[in-house]
Amino acid sequence: MANLPKVGFVSLGCPKATSDSERILTQLRAEGYLISSSYQDADVVVVNTCGFIDAAVEESLDAIGEALRENGKVIVTGCLGAREGVIEAAHPAVLAVTGPHATEEVMAAVHAQLPKPHDPYTDLIPPQGVRLTPGHYAYLKISEGCNHRCSFCIIPSLRGDLVSRPVGEVMNEAEALVKAGAKELLVISQDTSAYGVDVKYRTGFWNGRPLKTRMTELVSALGELGAWVRLHYVYPYPHVDEVIPLMQSGRVLPYLDIPFQHASPRILKLMKRPAAAEKTLDRIKAWREACPDLTLRSTFIVGFPGETEAEFEELLAFLDEAQLDRVGCFAYSPVEGAKANELPGAVPEEVKEERRARFMEKQAGISARRLEQKIGREMTVLVDEIDEEGDAVARSPADAPEIDGVVFIADAENLQPGDFVKVRITDATEHDLWAEKT
Ligand code: SF4
Repeated sequence: MANLPKVGFVSLGCPKATSDSERILTQLRAEGYLISSSYQDADVVVVNTCGFIDAAVEESLDAIGEALRENGKVIVTGCLGAREGVIEAAHPAVLAVTGPHATEEVMAAVHAQLPKPHDPYTDLIPPQGVRLTPGHYAYLKISEGCNHRCSFCIIPSLRGDLVSRPVGEVMNEAEALVKAGAKELLVISQDTSAYGVDVKYRTGFWNGRPLKTRMTELVSALGELGAWVRLHYVYPYPHVDEVIPLMQSGRVLPYLDIPFQHASPRILKLMKRPAAAEKTLDRIKAWREACPDLTLRSTFIVGFPGETEAEFEELLAFLDEAQLDRVGCFAYSPVEGAKANELPGAVPEEVKEERRARFMEKQAGISARRLEQKIGREMTVLVDEIDEEGDAVARSPADAPEIDGVVFIADAENLQPGDFVKVRITDATEHDLWAEKT
């Protein structure tokens, strides 16, 4: 018991605040923390505040001051926490501030200060949680829901608006995954570049260090963990430019998965796509100039209601210009409840399929040429498995698991899943590469 982390708790305010305190205390105990009744004995103190009237504000600020004097490590939650500026002005040394009804955020702040205790004899789950992926790579979901309303999509009505996970919690999960053997973290969400918009890019904490709830800051911190970091579902907002230098310096994999969906401005407008007005081709050019190894993956929809032959050809011309590395293409299919179904000009099935085939044929040539350019190059790959013939099936920084190609290494002796290995590329097809160890 002596080594278990201890949390002190001060609960002020009305019955709603008491109920919030009970939730936090329940969660703390469920995760194995002890609750300390003295400041001296606690490793960190949570103060649940009230901000209803001036006297309550005074009492809350006094309680925070006392906890800081007596213990020094203080996390503030509750109604006064919603007025972050008041607390920061009076007590700049507090570690984290959340509003009321914020058990998850308080827990993230506690985890950041005091890692969750793990008892291998009683815990049924490992610290990194139960995973369905192989141990050497893991998906890291940073938010849920989406603030956009693309006309072909019903995700917002199923999952609601964007809710970003607290940055400290995401970092703690990532750290636990890397400690458990993950060599690659795949950052996912509905809209990765919007991370933190819902919480106004609030500053959170990771290992006692302030960290903004924002894509650039998050992926930069993830890049410190020593694993590959791969970004999925990024929309080309202006601030995406900020991650390109992190890719060029090797901190984050030079890989962007950006679902462009179309290239015709009119169709993009009908689709109500985020960042549709950005000058995509100019951006791609600038990114590649800054980071020549950048791999771009994208998905597109052809046969969207009202798409004309000329608009489809605009899309083919975009492919020629953009020279994307990896591309998926879907023929538009009406999802029940999607606004796009009400648009006029449904494209006949056979035309949709014909356009999809033409699209894929064009892209196949582009992808094949881009892979061919890699022959003779040296690179580090990550081994996924050893196949029945004894070859290693690996992936380069340009290949996400499941959706992209692979790198076959003929002489797999001594190689195991999860190994990084240096190889020279010897051959290429439209999807995959062949390599030898160097
Ligand atoms: S397709 Fe549009 S609405 Fe649907 S999840 Fe993606 S960005 Fe959000």
